[in-house]
Amino acid sequence: MKLRLNSLKEGAQTIELTLSKGDLAITETSFQQPIFAKLNIYKGTPEITVKGKLNTNLNLECDRCLEPYKLYLEASFQSILSPVKSLSSDIDENIIPITPQTNEVDLTPFARDAILIEIPMKKICSENCKGICPGCGKILNIDTCRCENKKTDDRWKPLENILNIIAEE
Ligand SMILES: [Zn+2]
Ligand SMILES: [Zn+2]
Repeated sequence: MKLRLNSLKEGAQTIELTLSKGDLAITETSFQQPIFAKLNIYKGTPEITVKGKLNTNLNLECDRCLEPYKLYLEASFQSILSPVKSLSSDIDENIIPITPQTNEVDLTPFARDAILIEIPMKKICSENCKGICPGCGKILNIDTCRCENKKTDDRWKPLENILNIIAEE
């Protein structure tokens, strides 16, 4: 995703792009194509500010029920193209140094990092996902458990034993 600096006009402008995974060097298989990008650019003197917004859908698998689900993903980044060598450019990784000879700037790493960080660590299809029954293996969101549910609280075990003894007598 390269930005051609000589095609920019002074002041504010918006560029909308439809990207492939290859454009952002994303190898994650969960990403659907296309990835939409909107760049709000302000060309000032001497700096150019780029605010990028990206969105796409992910094909994920739920950690609880193992079913595939789609997740809408949004990401944003900001970078400042600056010809001014300042101390902050060593610290602030969002500042891209440019010179009057710079023709294009590659925004790919910024966009990619922004989007990859949004992939959830915990992949849950829904807050209410009931997961899979460890007994019968049924997906509890769409099926009801058919196995004998013999989950008794351990605290009742002694009482259960007494009741069994009484019943046997
Ligand atoms: Zn689920
Ligand atoms: Zn079950």
